[in-house]
Amino acid sequence: SPADRPADVRLTVNAPEQMRELGRRLAKLLRAGDLVMLSGELGAGKTTLTRGLGEGLGVRGAVTSPTFVIARVHPSLGDGPPLVHVDAYRLAGGLDEMEDLDLDVSLPESVVVVEWGEGKVEELTDERLQVVIHRAVGDTADESRRVTVSGLGPRWAGTDLGTLSA
Ligand code: ADP
Ligand code: MG
Repeated sequence: SPADRPADVRLTVNAPEQMRELGRRLAKLLRAGDLVMLSGELGAGKTTLTRGLGEGLGVRGAVTSPTFVIARVHPSLGDGPPLVHVDAYRLAGGLDEMEDLDLDVSLPESVVVVEWGEGKVEELTDERLQVVIHRAVGDTADESRRVTVSGLGPRWAGTDLGTLSA
């Protein structure tokens, strides 16, 4: 029931470095098997957030836009889960196509972050951390972003997302 959902967290993020910091905080909440869906237009800051998430998880390799590959795997530098960073834009059929990609990790043992997953992720799972990023309309110089984080499904029912705004 909706009552089991943690309260959404709404944040204003004023600069790219702050978006990375949010990613590092998010990483502390994540464990193997988790799915994070990032929504927001081009340039909103989805990849910037993922970069911080990779830093927080302690994974190898710089997180960059996965635009020309469907998914990029960042192994853990320690004993944590790998980060699988997905650009779902060209996954016509949805995330189940991921299984055909021959990734050398198993998704249930990874943290999976998906950009452009709208309409593809929802049908696969209703268990996810949903991050929606809005930028100011019409002003590309405005660095402020409105971010909403929602925990969907039983996995997130007991999690206090308030730590993200600390
Ligand atoms: P997306 O993956 O959503 O297309 P990117 O993270 O690749 O977006 O790009 C976001 C761009 O906007 C970067 O050039 C970044 O430096 C800039 N930017 C400006 N302000 C912010 C902010 N508050 N948060 C994130 N990125 C910002
Ligand atoms: Mg991106």
